[in-house]
Amino acid sequence: MDHFANRSGSLHAEDVPLTAIAEAVGTPVYVYSVATMKRHAEVMLDAVAGCGSGEPLVAYAVKANPNGAVLRVLQGCGLGADVVSIGEYRRARAAGIAPERIVFSGVGKTAEEMAEALAGGVLQFNAESIEEARMLSAIADAQGKSAPIGFRINPDVEAGTHAKITTGTADNKFGIPAAEALGAYAEAERLPGLKVQGITVHIGSQLVSIAPLEAAFRRLGELIGALRAQGSDIRLADLGGGLGVPHGADQPQPALPEAYGAMVRRVTADWNCRLVFEPGRLIVGNAGVLLTRVVRVKPGASHPWLIVDAGMNDLMRPALYDAWHGIEAVTPRGAKATVNVVGPVCESGDTFAMAREMDAVEAGDLVLFRTAGAYGATMANGYNSRPLTPEVLVDGDRWALVRKRIDLSDCAEVDPDWR
Ligand SMILES: *Cc1c(COP(=O)(O)O)cnc(C)c1O
Repeated sequence: MDHFANRSGSLHAEDVPLTAIAEAVGTPVYVYSVATMKRHAEVMLDAVAGCGSGEPLVAYAVKANPNGAVLRVLQGCGLGADVVSIGEYRRARAAGIAPERIVFSGVGKTAEEMAEALAGGVLQFNAESIEEARMLSAIADAQGKSAPIGFRINPDVEAGTHAKITTGTADNKFGIPAAEALGAYAEAERLPGLKVQGITVHIGSQLVSIAPLEAAFRRLGELIGALRAQGSDIRLADLGGGLGVPHGADQPQPALPEAYGAMVRRVTADWNCRLVFEPGRLIVGNAGVLLTRVVRVKPGASHPWLIVDAGMNDLMRPALYDAWHGIEAVTPRGAKATVNVVGPVCESGDTFAMAREMDAVEAGDLVLFRTAGAYGATMANGYNSRPLTPEVLVDGDRWALVRKRIDLSDCAEVDPDWR
Protein backbone atom coordinates (compact mmCIF):
# COMPACT_ATOMS: atom_id res chain seq x y z
CA MET A 1 0.00 0.00 0.00
CA ASP A 2 1.26 3.48 -0.81
CA HIS A 3 0.15 7.09 -0.55
CA PHE A 4 0.48 8.20 -4.19
CA ALA A 5 -3.05 8.57 -5.45
CA ASN A 6 -5.10 10.57 -7.91
CA ARG A 7 -7.17 13.30 -6.22
CA SER A 8 -9.50 15.38 -8.35
CA GLY A 9 -7.69 14.56 -11.57
CA SER A 10 -4.05 14.75 -10.55
CA LEU A 11 -1.60 12.52 -8.65
CA HIS A 12 -0.64 13.54 -5.14
CA ALA A 13 2.05 12.37 -2.73
CA GLU A 14 -0.04 12.18 0.47
CA ASP A 15 -1.68 15.66 0.54
CA VAL A 16 0.80 17.37 -1.77
CA PRO A 17 0.10 17.72 -5.52
CA LEU A 18 3.06 16.38 -7.49
CA THR A 19 2.59 19.27 -9.93
CA ALA A 20 3.54 21.67 -7.11
CA ILE A 21 6.77 19.80 -6.37
CA ALA A 22 7.73 19.66 -10.06
CA GLU A 23 7.00 23.38 -10.34
CA ALA A 24 9.15 24.29 -7.36
CA VAL A 25 12.08 21.86 -7.69
CA GLY A 26 12.10 21.05 -11.41
CA THR A 27 12.38 17.59 -12.91
CA PRO A 28 13.52 14.88 -12.70
CA VAL A 29 13.00 14.58 -8.94
CA TYR A 30 12.50 11.71 -6.52
CA VAL A 31 9.54 12.06 -4.14
CA TYR A 32 9.20 9.94 -0.98
CA SER A 33 6.17 9.46 1.26
CA VAL A 34 6.74 9.30 5.01
CA ALA A 35 3.34 7.67 5.64
CA THR A 36 4.17 4.86 3.21
CA MET A 37 7.56 4.19 4.81
CA LYS A 38 6.04 4.14 8.28
CA ARG A 39 3.33 1.77 7.13
CA HIS A 40 5.84 -0.65 5.56
CA ALA A 41 8.08 -0.57 8.64
CA GLU A 42 5.06 -1.36 10.80
CA VAL A 43 3.95 -4.24 8.53
CA MET A 44 7.44 -5.77 8.67
CA LEU A 45 7.75 -5.33 12.45
CA ASP A 46 4.31 -6.91 12.94
CA ALA A 47 5.12 -9.80 10.58
CA VAL A 48 8.17 -10.89 12.57
CA ALA A 49 7.00 -9.93 16.07
CA GLY A 50 7.67 -12.76 18.50
CA CYS A 51 9.95 -14.66 16.09
CA GLY A 52 13.08 -16.15 17.65
CA SER A 53 14.27 -15.64 21.19
CA GLY A 54 14.51 -12.09 22.46
CA GLU A 55 13.32 -9.12 20.48
CA PRO A 56 13.84 -9.45 16.71
CA LEU A 57 15.80 -6.67 15.07
CA VAL A 58 14.63 -5.26 11.77
CA ALA A 59 17.83 -3.74 10.36
CA TYR A 60 16.91 -1.65 7.33
CA ALA A 61 19.31 -2.21 4.40
CA VAL A 62 20.65 1.33 4.07
CA LYS A 63 21.88 0.81 0.51
CA ALA A 64 18.27 0.72 -0.74
CA ASN A 65 17.85 4.42 0.10
CA PRO A 66 20.51 6.08 2.28
CA ASN A 67 19.02 9.58 2.38
CA GLY A 68 19.51 10.94 5.91
CA ALA A 69 15.91 12.16 6.16
CA VAL A 70 14.67 8.69 5.20
CA LEU A 71 16.98 7.08 7.78
CA ARG A 72 15.67 9.38 10.50
CA VAL A 73 12.07 8.41 9.72
CA LEU A 74 12.95 4.71 9.87
CA GLN A 75 14.99 5.15 13.05
CA GLY A 76 11.88 6.68 14.55
CA CYS A 77 9.91 3.58 13.54
CA GLY A 78 12.30 1.43 15.58
CA LEU A 79 14.39 0.03 12.74
CA GLY A 80 18.11 -0.64 13.00
CA ALA A 81 20.49 -0.66 10.01
CA ASP A 82 22.28 -3.10 7.78
CA VAL A 83 25.29 -1.30 6.32
CA VAL A 84 27.78 -2.35 3.64
CA SER A 85 30.32 0.48 3.85
CA ILE A 86 31.67 2.90 6.42
CA GLY A 87 29.80 5.67 4.61
CA GLU A 88 26.53 3.88 5.31
CA TYR A 89 27.64 3.22 8.89
CA ARG A 90 28.23 6.93 9.45
CA ARG A 91 24.88 7.82 7.90
CA ALA A 92 23.10 5.33 10.15
CA ARG A 93 24.83 6.70 13.23
CA ALA A 94 24.14 10.30 12.17
CA ALA A 95 20.45 9.39 11.89
CA GLY A 96 20.50 8.28 15.53
CA ILE A 97 20.57 4.52 15.02
CA ALA A 98 22.32 2.95 18.01
CA PRO A 99 25.47 0.87 17.39
CA GLU A 100 23.86 -2.24 18.91
CA ARG A 101 21.19 -2.02 16.20
CA ILE A 102 23.67 -2.00 13.29
CA VAL A 103 25.00 -5.04 11.40
CA PHE A 104 27.92 -4.61 9.02
CA SER A 105 27.63 -6.70 5.83
CA GLY A 106 29.57 -6.64 2.56
CA VAL A 107 32.15 -8.75 0.79
CA GLY A 108 34.93 -6.16 0.64
CA LYS A 109 35.14 -4.40 4.01
CA THR A 110 38.54 -2.75 4.27
CA ALA A 111 40.74 -2.69 7.38
CA GLU A 112 39.96 1.02 7.85
CA GLU A 113 36.22 0.38 7.65
CA MET A 114 36.35 -2.46 10.15
CA ALA A 115 38.52 -0.46 12.57
CA GLU A 116 36.15 2.51 12.56
CA ALA A 117 33.01 0.38 12.94
CA LEU A 118 34.58 -1.67 15.73
CA ALA A 119 35.61 1.47 17.59
CA GLY A 120 32.12 2.96 17.15
CA GLY A 121 30.31 -0.27 17.93
CA VAL A 122 28.18 -2.76 15.97
CA LEU A 123 25.83 -5.60 16.81
CA GLN A 124 27.72 -7.90 14.46
CA PHE A 125 30.17 -8.04 11.58
CA ASN A 126 28.77 -10.37 8.94
CA ALA A 127 32.01 -11.80 7.56
CA GLU A 128 32.06 -13.21 4.06
CA SER A 129 35.33 -15.17 4.17
CA ILE A 130 37.84 -16.58 6.62
CA GLU A 131 40.36 -14.08 5.22
CA GLU A 132 38.07 -11.25 6.35
CA ALA A 133 37.74 -12.85 9.80
CA ARG A 134 41.53 -12.99 10.12
CA MET A 135 41.78 -9.28 9.27
CA LEU A 136 39.06 -8.40 11.77
CA SER A 137 40.81 -10.51 14.42
CA ALA A 138 44.05 -8.55 13.99
CA ILE A 139 42.22 -5.21 14.14
CA ALA A 140 40.22 -6.17 17.24
CA ASP A 141 43.32 -7.51 18.94
CA ALA A 142 45.15 -4.24 18.28
CA GLN A 143 42.20 -2.25 19.71
CA GLY A 144 42.04 -4.60 22.73
CA LYS A 145 38.44 -5.35 21.80
CA SER A 146 36.32 -8.35 21.05
CA ALA A 147 34.60 -8.12 17.64
CA PRO A 148 31.17 -9.79 17.43
CA ILE A 149 31.14 -11.89 14.28
CA GLY A 150 28.97 -14.22 12.23
CA PHE A 151 29.68 -15.74 8.85
CA ARG A 152 27.50 -15.23 5.82
CA ILE A 153 26.65 -18.64 4.44
CA ASN A 154 26.18 -19.17 0.71
CA PRO A 155 23.48 -21.86 0.80
CA ASP A 156 23.63 -22.51 -2.96
CA VAL A 157 19.93 -22.00 -3.63
CA GLU A 158 18.41 -20.35 -6.69
CA ALA A 159 16.42 -17.31 -5.62
CA GLY A 160 14.23 -17.32 -8.73
CA THR A 161 14.90 -13.63 -9.38
CA HIS A 162 16.99 -11.78 -11.99
CA ALA A 163 20.58 -13.11 -12.33
CA LYS A 164 22.01 -9.68 -11.42
CA ILE A 165 20.21 -9.66 -8.08
CA THR A 166 20.82 -13.31 -7.18
CA THR A 167 23.43 -13.66 -4.43
CA GLY A 168 23.13 -17.14 -2.92
CA THR A 169 24.33 -19.58 -5.57
CA ALA A 170 27.77 -21.20 -5.71
CA ASP A 171 28.75 -18.90 -8.59
CA ASN A 172 28.07 -15.69 -6.63
CA LYS A 173 30.87 -13.87 -4.82
CA PHE A 174 28.91 -13.69 -1.57
CA GLY A 175 29.45 -15.64 1.65
CA ILE A 176 31.24 -18.90 2.34
CA PRO A 177 30.00 -22.23 0.95
CA ALA A 178 27.96 -24.19 3.51
CA ALA A 179 30.41 -27.09 3.14
CA GLU A 180 33.25 -24.88 4.40
CA ALA A 181 31.33 -23.34 7.30
CA LEU A 182 32.43 -25.77 10.02
CA GLY A 183 36.09 -25.23 9.15
CA ALA A 184 35.71 -21.43 9.07
CA TYR A 185 33.98 -21.31 12.45
CA ALA A 186 36.58 -23.66 13.98
CA GLU A 187 39.38 -21.36 12.83
CA ALA A 188 37.53 -18.20 13.94
CA GLU A 189 37.08 -19.71 17.42
CA ARG A 190 40.87 -20.00 17.69
CA LEU A 191 41.56 -16.43 16.51
CA PRO A 192 42.10 -13.71 19.14
CA GLY A 193 39.77 -10.73 19.37
CA LEU A 194 36.68 -12.40 17.91
CA LYS A 195 33.39 -13.18 19.62
CA VAL A 196 31.90 -15.86 17.39
CA GLN A 197 28.15 -15.46 17.95
CA GLY A 198 26.14 -15.48 14.75
CA ILE A 199 25.32 -16.71 11.29
CA THR A 200 23.71 -14.99 8.34
CA VAL A 201 22.29 -15.55 4.88
CA HIS A 202 20.95 -13.31 2.09
CA ILE A 203 20.11 -15.00 -1.20
CA GLY A 204 18.93 -12.18 -3.43
CA SER A 205 16.52 -9.36 -4.00
CA GLN A 206 12.97 -8.85 -5.31
CA LEU A 207 12.06 -12.44 -4.43
CA VAL A 208 8.49 -13.30 -5.37
CA SER A 209 8.32 -16.74 -3.76
CA ILE A 210 9.40 -17.48 -0.19
CA ALA A 211 10.23 -21.11 -1.03
CA PRO A 212 13.91 -20.37 -1.82
CA LEU A 213 14.17 -18.39 1.43
CA GLU A 214 12.72 -21.31 3.35
CA ALA A 215 15.23 -23.68 1.72
CA ALA A 216 18.09 -21.33 2.66
CA PHE A 217 16.85 -20.94 6.26
CA ARG A 218 16.57 -24.73 6.65
CA ARG A 219 20.21 -25.09 5.61
CA LEU A 220 21.09 -22.40 8.15
CA GLY A 221 19.17 -24.30 10.85
CA GLU A 222 21.10 -27.49 10.15
CA LEU A 223 24.37 -25.55 10.33
CA ILE A 224 23.44 -23.92 13.64
CA GLY A 225 23.02 -27.41 15.15
CA ALA A 226 26.32 -28.62 13.70
CA LEU A 227 28.17 -25.48 14.84
CA ARG A 228 26.86 -25.78 18.38
CA ALA A 229 27.91 -29.44 18.43
CA GLN A 230 31.37 -28.21 17.39
CA GLY A 231 31.45 -25.73 20.28
CA SER A 232 30.33 -22.40 18.79
CA ASP A 233 27.78 -20.48 20.83
CA ILE A 234 25.49 -19.30 18.00
CA ARG A 235 22.93 -16.85 19.42
CA LEU A 236 22.11 -14.55 16.56
CA ALA A 237 20.71 -15.58 13.18
CA ASP A 238 20.49 -12.83 10.57
CA LEU A 239 18.08 -13.89 7.83
CA GLY A 240 18.89 -11.09 5.37
CA GLY A 241 16.43 -9.24 3.17
CA GLY A 242 15.14 -9.86 -0.30
CA LEU A 243 11.36 -9.84 0.00
CA GLY A 244 9.92 -8.50 -3.24
CA VAL A 245 7.41 -5.70 -3.59
CA PRO A 246 4.39 -5.47 -5.91
CA HIS A 247 5.10 -3.46 -9.08
CA GLY A 248 1.56 -3.38 -10.44
CA ALA A 249 -1.63 -5.40 -10.71
CA ASP A 250 -0.53 -7.41 -13.77
CA GLN A 251 3.01 -8.04 -12.46
CA PRO A 252 4.09 -11.02 -10.30
CA GLN A 253 2.63 -10.63 -6.79
CA PRO A 254 5.30 -11.36 -4.17
CA ALA A 255 4.51 -13.24 -0.97
CA LEU A 256 3.22 -10.95 1.76
CA PRO A 257 5.33 -10.14 4.84
CA GLU A 258 2.73 -11.99 6.97
CA ALA A 259 3.38 -15.23 5.03
CA TYR A 260 7.12 -14.64 5.34
CA GLY A 261 6.81 -14.14 9.10
CA ALA A 262 4.73 -17.29 9.49
CA MET A 263 7.33 -19.29 7.54
CA VAL A 264 10.16 -17.87 9.66
CA ARG A 265 8.27 -18.68 12.86
CA ARG A 266 7.80 -22.28 11.68
CA VAL A 267 11.36 -22.85 10.43
CA THR A 268 13.19 -21.18 13.32
CA ALA A 269 10.98 -22.44 16.17
CA ASP A 270 13.71 -24.58 17.78
CA TRP A 271 16.74 -22.47 16.87
CA ASN A 272 16.95 -20.65 20.17
CA CYS A 273 18.48 -17.64 18.41
CA ARG A 274 17.71 -13.94 18.35
CA LEU A 275 16.69 -13.06 14.78
CA VAL A 276 17.76 -10.14 12.59
CA PHE A 277 16.06 -9.15 9.32
CA GLU A 278 17.50 -6.87 6.65
CA PRO A 279 14.67 -5.62 4.44
CA GLY A 280 15.50 -2.76 2.08
CA ARG A 281 13.20 -2.67 -0.91
CA LEU A 282 10.18 -3.81 1.15
CA ILE A 283 10.41 -0.70 3.33
CA VAL A 284 11.11 2.02 0.76
CA GLY A 285 10.46 0.63 -2.74
CA ASN A 286 6.85 1.71 -3.06
CA ALA A 287 7.39 4.72 -0.80
CA GLY A 288 9.05 6.63 -3.65
CA VAL A 289 8.36 7.78 -7.19
CA LEU A 290 10.53 9.43 -9.81
CA LEU A 291 8.80 12.46 -11.25
CA THR A 292 9.84 13.42 -14.78
CA ARG A 293 8.63 15.62 -17.63
CA VAL A 294 8.05 14.63 -21.25
CA VAL A 295 10.63 16.44 -23.39
CA ARG A 296 9.05 15.43 -26.67
CA VAL A 297 7.24 12.67 -28.49
CA LYS A 298 9.12 11.43 -31.55
CA PRO A 299 7.57 9.17 -34.18
CA GLY A 300 8.92 5.59 -34.18
CA ALA A 301 8.83 2.57 -36.49
CA SER A 302 6.51 0.54 -34.28
CA HIS A 303 5.48 2.97 -31.54
CA PRO A 304 6.18 6.61 -30.74
CA TRP A 305 9.23 7.35 -28.57
CA LEU A 306 8.22 9.11 -25.40
CA ILE A 307 11.39 10.98 -24.44
CA VAL A 308 11.38 12.03 -20.79
CA ASP A 309 13.88 14.17 -18.90
CA ALA A 310 14.88 11.31 -16.55
CA GLY A 311 17.52 8.93 -17.85
CA MET A 312 19.21 5.66 -16.96
CA ASN A 313 21.64 7.70 -14.87
CA ASP A 314 18.74 8.79 -12.63
CA LEU A 315 17.01 5.39 -12.45
CA MET A 316 19.32 2.54 -13.41
CA ARG A 317 17.11 -0.42 -12.58
CA PRO A 318 15.53 -1.00 -16.01
CA ALA A 319 18.95 -0.84 -17.74
CA LEU A 320 20.70 -2.85 -15.03
CA TYR A 321 18.19 -5.61 -14.37
CA ASP A 322 15.33 -5.21 -16.80
CA ALA A 323 13.23 -3.92 -13.93
CA TRP A 324 9.59 -3.07 -14.66
CA HIS A 325 8.25 0.25 -13.35
CA GLY A 326 4.68 1.45 -13.52
CA ILE A 327 4.57 4.64 -15.61
CA GLU A 328 1.66 7.08 -15.36
CA ALA A 329 0.69 10.59 -16.31
CA VAL A 330 0.50 12.87 -13.27
CA THR A 331 -2.58 14.56 -14.76
CA PRO A 332 -4.11 11.97 -17.11
CA ARG A 333 -5.82 13.30 -20.23
CA GLY A 334 -8.15 10.29 -20.37
CA ALA A 335 -6.87 8.53 -23.50
CA LYS A 336 -4.39 5.64 -23.62
CA ALA A 337 -1.48 5.11 -26.02
CA THR A 338 1.18 2.48 -26.68
CA VAL A 339 4.66 3.99 -26.57
CA ASN A 340 8.34 3.32 -25.97
CA VAL A 341 9.50 5.28 -22.93
CA VAL A 342 13.13 6.39 -23.10
CA GLY A 343 15.48 8.90 -21.52
CA PRO A 344 17.84 11.43 -23.14
CA VAL A 345 21.08 9.53 -22.42
CA CYS A 346 23.17 8.37 -25.38
CA GLU A 347 22.80 4.62 -24.78
CA SER A 348 20.27 2.22 -26.25
CA GLY A 349 20.01 0.83 -22.72
CA ASP A 350 18.44 4.13 -21.67
CA THR A 351 15.02 2.55 -22.16
CA PHE A 352 12.41 2.42 -19.41
CA ALA A 353 9.70 0.49 -21.28
CA MET A 354 8.98 -0.78 -24.80
CA ALA A 355 5.48 -1.07 -26.27
CA ARG A 356 3.94 0.12 -23.01
CA GLU A 357 0.26 0.92 -22.95
CA MET A 358 -0.10 3.94 -20.68
CA ASP A 359 -1.78 7.30 -20.34
CA ALA A 360 -1.49 9.32 -23.53
CA VAL A 361 0.78 12.31 -22.85
CA GLU A 362 2.19 15.27 -24.74
CA ALA A 363 5.43 17.23 -24.55
CA GLY A 364 5.55 19.16 -21.30
CA ASP A 365 3.32 16.71 -19.39
CA LEU A 366 4.50 15.27 -16.07
CA VAL A 367 4.96 11.52 -15.83
CA LEU A 368 5.92 9.38 -12.87
CA PHE A 369 7.75 6.12 -12.41
CA ARG A 370 6.41 4.12 -9.51
CA THR A 371 8.33 1.89 -7.08
CA ALA A 372 11.39 4.14 -7.31
CA GLY A 373 12.05 4.57 -3.57
CA ALA A 374 14.59 1.71 -3.44
CA TYR A 375 17.74 1.46 -5.56
CA GLY A 376 16.75 4.68 -7.33
CA ALA A 377 18.43 7.90 -6.22
CA THR A 378 21.13 5.89 -4.44
CA MET A 379 22.35 4.43 -7.75
CA ALA A 380 22.11 7.68 -9.69
CA ASN A 381 25.23 8.94 -11.41
CA GLY A 382 26.38 11.84 -13.55
CA TYR A 383 26.71 10.11 -16.92
CA ASN A 384 26.33 12.50 -19.90
CA SER A 385 27.27 15.31 -17.45
CA ARG A 386 23.81 15.16 -15.96
CA PRO A 387 23.33 16.41 -12.38
CA LEU A 388 22.37 14.03 -9.56
CA THR A 389 18.60 13.95 -9.13
CA PRO A 390 17.21 15.86 -6.14
CA GLU A 391 15.05 14.15 -3.51
CA VAL A 392 11.91 15.43 -1.78
CA LEU A 393 10.26 14.09 1.36
CA VAL A 394 6.51 14.46 1.85
CA ASP A 395 4.76 14.16 5.19
CA GLY A 396 1.03 14.92 5.10
CA ASP A 397 0.64 18.37 3.58
CA ARG A 398 4.29 19.31 4.17
CA TRP A 399 7.19 18.68 1.86
CA ALA A 400 10.90 19.43 1.93
CA LEU A 401 13.86 19.15 -0.39
CA VAL A 402 16.08 16.57 1.34
CA ARG A 403 18.81 16.45 -1.30
CA LYS A 404 19.59 19.24 -3.71
CA ARG A 405 20.20 18.73 -7.39
CA ILE A 406 23.98 18.27 -7.52
CA ASP A 407 25.91 19.43 -10.57
CA LEU A 408 29.01 17.25 -10.42
CA SER A 409 30.98 19.34 -12.89
CA ASP A 410 31.54 22.16 -10.39
CA CYS A 411 31.95 19.75 -7.54
CA ALA A 412 35.13 17.74 -7.50
CA GLU A 413 37.23 18.29 -10.59
CA VAL A 414 40.66 19.87 -10.22
CA ASP A 415 42.89 21.20 -13.00
CA PRO A 416 46.44 19.83 -12.83
CA ASP A 417 48.86 22.66 -12.05
CA TRP A 418 51.26 21.42 -14.79
CA ARG A 419 48.76 22.04 -17.57
C1 LIG B 1 20.94 -5.67 -0.51
C2 LIG B 1 20.95 -6.43 0.75
C3 LIG B 1 19.81 -6.48 1.56
C4 LIG B 1 18.50 -5.83 1.19
O1 LIG B 1 17.90 -6.45 0.10
P1 LIG B 1 16.39 -6.05 -0.30
O2 LIG B 1 16.13 -6.87 -1.50
O3 LIG B 1 16.39 -4.60 -0.59
O4 LIG B 1 15.53 -6.42 0.85
C5 LIG B 1 19.90 -7.13 2.77
N1 LIG B 1 21.05 -7.75 3.16
C6 LIG B 1 22.16 -7.74 2.40
C7 LIG B 1 23.39 -8.42 2.89
C8 LIG B 1 22.15 -7.09 1.17
O5 LIG B 1 23.25 -7.09 0.42
